[in-house]
Amino acid sequence: MDDSQLLRYSRQIMLPQIGIEGQERLGNSKILIIGLGGLGSPVAMYLAAAGVGQLQLCDFDRVDLSNLQRQIIHNNDDIGKPKVESARESLLMLNPLVEVITINKRLENESLITQVKQVDAVIDCSDNLITRFAINSACVATQTPLISGATIRMEGQITVFLNDINSSCYRCLYPSNADLEETCTQTGVLAPMAGLIGSLQALEAMKIIMRVGKILAGQLLLIDGLNMEINQIKLTKNSDCPICCQP
Ligand SMILES: [Zn+2]
Repeated sequence: MDDSQLLRYSRQIMLPQIGIEGQERLGNSKILIIGLGGLGSPVAMYLAAAGVGQLQLCDFDRVDLSNLQRQIIHNNDDIGKPKVESARESLLMLNPLVEVITINKRLENESLITQVKQVDAVIDCSDNLITRFAINSACVATQTPLISGATIRMEGQITVFLNDINSSCYRCLYPSNADLEETCTQTGVLAPMAGLIGSLQALEAMKIIMRVGKILAGQLLLIDGLNMEINQIKLTKNSDCPICCQP
C-alpha cells in the first residue's frame, strides 16, 4: 500500500482487529453483489469505500424514477441507464482504486456457478425468491459464503450462510417454492430499512474477508423498524433439504 492508500483507509487500519493485514485481505478480495437496488446500493458503496479489491455487480434492470427513493447509488441523471453502469460510475467516483466488473444480465445455472466460483463471497441483494434460491444453490455447490438480506415495509432481516459442511442454507430456511412472495414493488418499503440491512450485509462481508469477529452464521437477525424491536433466531439445518443435504 502506498501513502495515499494508507491515509484513505487509515480509520479502519487503526482498528487493532484489522490493521494492515486486514486491509490487505480486503484489497485482495473479490465480492459478487447480485441486485443493485435498495440493498445493493449501500452494500456496494460501503465495500468500495472500504477498499475491497474487486466488486462484481450483477443486475439486468435499468434505473427508474421510482427507484431513487431508496437506491442511493443512482441519481436523477441515471434514469434509463442500466443499473450496473450507473452503480459503476458512482463507485469509481467514491474510490477509483476499486476494480468494478459489470454483469448486465440475469445469471442462471452454469453461468451463475461460474461467476460465484470466482469470488470470495456473494451478497444477495435480489428481490425475489426464484433468484434467491438460484443464488443459494450456486453458493452451496461451490461452498461460497452467502450474505443474505431482505427488507419490506419497515421490516428487515439478514443472515449469513458460510456453506461449509455443517452450514444450513437459504433453502433450509424457506423449504417451499410456494411461499407467498411479497416484494417491495407491491408492498412498499421505507428507505432507511434498506440502508440498515445493506450496511449490515457489508459489515458481515468485510468480517468474513478480514477473518475478524463473530459472523452472523446460523442466526437470522430480524429488525422491526416500526417498533424498533430486534430479534435473533437460531437457524437449523434441515436434514431433508434438497440443496445442502443431498445424499
Ligand atoms: Zn439447506
